Amino acid sequence: MALHVRGVFLPDDEVRDVWLVGDRVTFEPVPGAETVADGGYVLPGLTDAHCHIGIARGGAPITSLDQARELARIDRDAGVLAIRDAGSPYPYPELEDEPDLPRLARAGRHVAPPKRYLRDIGVEVGAAEVAATVAAQAAAGNGWVKLVGDWIDRGVGDLAPAWDADTLTAAVAAAHAAGVRAAVHTFSESAVEIMVRAGVDSVEHGTGLSPDLIDLMARQGTALVPTMINIRTFGHIAEQARPKFPGYADHMLALRDRFPDVVRAAHEAGVPIYVGTDAGGGIDHGLAAEEMLLLHEQAGMAAEDVLAAASWRAREWLGFPGLVEGGLADLVVYPEDPRRDLRVVRWPSRIVLRGRVVR
Ligand SMILES: [Zn+2]
Repeated sequence: MALHVRGVFLPDDEVRDVWLVGDRVTFEPVPGAETVADGGYVLPGLTDAHCHIGIARGGAPITSLDQARELARIDRDAGVLAIRDAGSPYPYPELEDEPDLPRLARAGRHVAPPKRYLRDIGVEVGAAEVAATVAAQAAAGNGWVKLVGDWIDRGVGDLAPAWDADTLTAAVAAAHAAGVRAAVHTFSESAVEIMVRAGVDSVEHGTGLSPDLIDLMARQGTALVPTMINIRTFGHIAEQARPKFPGYADHMLALRDRFPDVVRAAHEAGVPIYVGTDAGGGIDHGLAAEEMLLLHEQAGMAAEDVLAAASWRAREWLGFPGLVEGGLADLVVYPEDPRRDLRVVRWPSRIVLRGRVVR
C-alpha cells in the first residue's frame, strides 16, 4: 500500500506532500494512500558513512549474518537508513537487498599491514601483495575498499605508515583501476599526507591533517569522515599504551586535543564532511545523532551543514537518491526543526525505510 507524508521538507524548507509507492518517491498524489506523518520536519534517511556491522561488540568478527542484521537494525532504529560499511571481516553481500535493513555501501575486508592492525579484522599483507589484495577486496565489496594507512609500529613506538609511500600510492591506484573508491584509515600526520596526495577518495578519522592538506582535499574534493566519537576514545587507548609506548600515548593525546579544530578548518575550507560513528567493536551502534551533535558542538558546524552531512549530501555521495521524484523511499521525520535545535535528531517521530514504516 502507498504511504503519504506531509511536512516541512529539508533542505528546501517547504511544506510538501510526498507519496511512497513501493521503494520509490513520487510527488504525484496517490489516491487511498495511508498518511503516516502529517507535520514535523522531513529529511531523506540518515547515513552512517563509517560503520562496521561485521565486527561484534568487543572487537571479534561476527560469525553469522544474523549478527550483522541485529547491528544494522540498531542503526536503522536511530534513523540511519544507509550505511557505508568501512571494512568487514565477514562477507554479507546477501544483506544488500533485505527490505528491513539499511542500504549498504560496502568495502570488503580492511587491507592491513602484517601483525599491526586489530586482530582478525583485516587481510594482512606485505607491500608486494597490497595492490593485488586491493583488487580482490574491491570485488568483494560493492564500490569501496578500505585501506589501513597507519597504526602503531611497536618497533618505532609510535604511529607509522602501514607500508612505504609508493605502496600506499599504488594501493589507491589499484582501487581506482578496479573501478571502486578507496577509503583510508589514518591517525598520523605522515600517512594522511601520502594518501591525500595519492588521491584517496575519503580520509577516515584524519587526525593528522595539516592546513596544506586540508586545502588540497578541498581542491580535489577528497572527503573527510571524522568519526569524532572514535577520537574521544584516544585517551583510553593512550593510557593503556603508556607504560610501553609513552611517545605513542603522548602523540595520540595531542592528536585528540587538536582534532575539533582540524574538523572545523576542514569544514571552513570546503572539504566534504560526512557523519560516521565507527560503530562496531568498542563503539556502540545507534550513535549517529551523537556524532552529529559532536560535529555541531565541538567542530562548530552549523546545524544545517551537519544535517546535510548526515542526510542528503551523504546519500548523494554514496549513490542513494533522496526525496526527489523517483528517488528511494527512505525518510525520517522529526517533531521540531532540527536546524533550530539539533538535539531533536535523537528523537525521530517517524522512520520509513524502502517505503515501509519502521516506527
Ligand atoms: Zn572503522
